[in-house]
Amino acid sequence: MASISGKILRLAAAVFLCGAFAGTSAAQEGTPAKQLFGAVKLPSRTEAEPLGFYAKGCMSGAVALPTDGPTWQAMRLSRNRRWGNPEMIALLEQFSRDAAKLGWGSGILVGDISQPRGGPMLTGHASHQIGLDADIWFTPKPTQPLTAQQREDMPFTSMLDKSKFLTVDTRRWTNTHANVVMQAASYPQVERVFVNPAIKKKLCETWTGDRSLLGKVRPIYGHDEHFHIRIHCPAGTANCQRQAPVAKGDGCDKSLAWWFTKEPWAPPKPDPNKKPVKPRPVMLSDLPKACAAVLAAPSRPEEDATFGGGAMAYTSQPAAPSPAENIEAIIGKPLSASMAVPIPTPRPLQ
Ligand SMILES: [Zn+2]
Repeated sequence: MASISGKILRLAAAVFLCGAFAGTSAAQEGTPAKQLFGAVKLPSRTEAEPLGFYAKGCMSGAVALPTDGPTWQAMRLSRNRRWGNPEMIALLEQFSRDAAKLGWGSGILVGDISQPRGGPMLTGHASHQIGLDADIWFTPKPTQPLTAQQREDMPFTSMLDKSKFLTVDTRRWTNTHANVVMQAASYPQVERVFVNPAIKKKLCETWTGDRSLLGKVRPIYGHDEHFHIRIHCPAGTANCQRQAPVAKGDGCDKSLAWWFTKEPWAPPKPDPNKKPVKPRPVMLSDLPKACAAVLAAPSRPEEDATFGGGAMAYTSQPAAPSPAENIEAIIGKPLSASMAVPIPTPRPLQ
């Protein structure tokens, strides 16, 4: 009897496990990746590594930019997007010192970097997914530090004259703005700096420094209230997908002139012969396989994962539940170790 009931128990357990496994897997498959990554509050306790591409990937072992530094403040703290690859965070701290030396207020105001484990976001940004992109406000850091509430509420200031087509507002744009953007472009690890086409045009017309650096400054929609710094894949990161290098030259050419035609601003013409295709959200299975392991990896506490071990002004936030609990809340099922992907080596605690 004992052996029969034992067999039944084992069978029941096997059925239960299979059911749980399939259920979790199906639920994860049915949940857009932005919801999975958007719910995680802390980084993975794993080696720092960008996985995938700027606009399709995730991030292992992120560190946080301290909310406050001598020459920077992180903005919109509630968004919890102060996380990046350590090389990105180190660069931002360096840039903040250099910007202050250029007379850019008392330093920089830093917008979004990435979510704690990177990945797609619930709001904004196609890129910023692997910890190598960061937004910098076109407003300098004021001498008097901003409170957490001011960092939530302070409006952006556009550098454009909205009464004209694609024109920089010369009442706001100064030589220091130009110097700060070009300073960002000057670092060897910076691959691209994205600005509004009107700002690129202004730089093309006025920049008398090293013109070869202008090629890194790329015109793109938006980016009139902030500029966007993108760094190369750090050395030795085999799973970071490199972007094609920028074309030689200053980029003050046809590629810029195109932005001043009607084409980029015209609404797309619907093709009457094509059936409308409903856009499909990016799923976990669309991202590099290692991203499932990054999601499932244990968390590293925020204080421990703050770059440079700096003082934290973010401790008023309630302690975040473990990422596994967060994901479970979303998919409504326990997270199984369904990821037959090696988890990157745990990073030793410092
Ligand atoms: Zn950006």
